[in-house]
Amino acid sequence: MTMPLPDDHPLGPPPDEQSWVRVAEELAAGFAATTDELDRTAQLPVANLEALHASGLDQATLPREFGGQALSYRTVGAVLRVISAADPSTACLWLMHIGAAEGLVQHSTPDVARYYADELVAGRRFANALSEPTGGNQFLSPQQVAEPVDGGFRLTGAKRFVSGCEIAHHFLINALVDGQPTLFGLEPDHTVTFDPQDTLGLRATRSHLVSLNGTLLRADRRCPPAQHPKPNHIAAGLAALSLGVADTALNTLIDYARTRTLPSTGQPLAAEQHLQFEVADAVLQLEAATLVAQHTAWLADQNSPQFLPAAMRAKPTANRVARDIAQLCLQVGGGSGFVATSPIQRIFRDAQTGWLMAHSVEFCLNHIGTEAMVPHRSDEPAA
Ligand SMILES: Cc1cc2nc3c(=O)[nH]c(=O)nc-3n(C[C@H](O)[C@H](O)[C@H](O)COP(=O)(O)OP(=O)(O)OC[C@H]3O[C@@H](n4cnc5c(N)ncnc54)[C@H](O)[C@@H]3O)c2cc1C
Repeated sequence: MTMPLPDDHPLGPPPDEQSWVRVAEELAAGFAATTDELDRTAQLPVANLEALHASGLDQATLPREFGGQALSYRTVGAVLRVISAADPSTACLWLMHIGAAEGLVQHSTPDVARYYADELVAGRRFANALSEPTGGNQFLSPQQVAEPVDGGFRLTGAKRFVSGCEIAHHFLINALVDGQPTLFGLEPDHTVTFDPQDTLGLRATRSHLVSLNGTLLRADRRCPPAQHPKPNHIAAGLAALSLGVADTALNTLIDYARTRTLPSTGQPLAAEQHLQFEVADAVLQLEAATLVAQHTAWLADQNSPQFLPAAMRAKPTANRVARDIAQLCLQVGGGSGFVATSPIQRIFRDAQTGWLMAHSVEFCLNHIGTEAMVPHRSDEPAA
């Protein structure tokens, strides 16, 4: 529907990594068959996650010195988009998994980093326990204090929306230590409990509330600053999740409009000119959002200082497109899309999620608008 990039386009996956996108396409075809049922029952797509691991994709994201292929952000973005189009919950869980593992490998001493990399290769699962009930978008500035004790720091509190928490062997978690935001690796024990939260969208991620009841954050799992900081896959990948949802929304509405004949005209809904205009608009929006996201992934591959400001633009652009096209999909589906058995209502719910996941669209707009409107010190006229 949208114009594909030529294979050798610099913003697309590098040629020697394109086979990974084909791997994702083959897996995604199978994932799509269970998406609606897993959403209905809010069950984790464990078989999908195991298939992704078995394909070698988890390992390929690791740096080369840890046995990986240092897969580019452009390729990870393309893989995420394909998986998200088939099953957005699987894509979200996979992104959180590789992002948490990458964070722990990057922010650990060499021996501990090797341990986490080996755990990822062995099929152990990772999750991010960062967002606090009172903190929301400030997930990198925790308010909960970990108190010093023998062997580390003790944390009593809660983390919210921890995708895949029930099957995670390792959490990337943060707390305030000596007044500073501090990351730790945590292997959950009996002090860590889960309180179900039934989310409206991405239900199969089982993004529950995690309670920490005097949990020991081990001193030897405290994360030192990264030696060679790199963008995290989560910051780069969230736009791709929404683009995948937008792809499916667009394809679903076009399929429906082609097959639904209007009794008044005897023509398919797709022949209505007002709808053709709306679809054309959707295609243009999606192509524009795709280019912004691919440019951002390219900046991440260059480890450019422009990556973070670009990611702050790519995410809301993609979130908005997903929500707009899902809204159009619901409009075109009419009553048929509004019943619980229709995939359209699931697409509509899933499309809301990217908008509020941190950083939310409002947070990004606030940041971009302030940058644009409030004079910087260097812009101010000299006295
Ligand atoms: C399906 C799903 C999966 C998730 N998975 C994980 C996970 O695995 N790990 C994890 O740690 N977290 C996860 N999250 C949490 C997520 O990333 C956010 O931290 C959380 O959704 C934000 O919570 P909130 O809306 O309560 O935030 P709040 O920050 O309280 O936002 C409330 C409202 O205020 C607005 N707002 C906040 N700050 C600003 C600002 N500066 N300017 C303008 N408006 C602002 C927001 O846009 C929103 O409208 C997940 C969330 C969802 C929905």
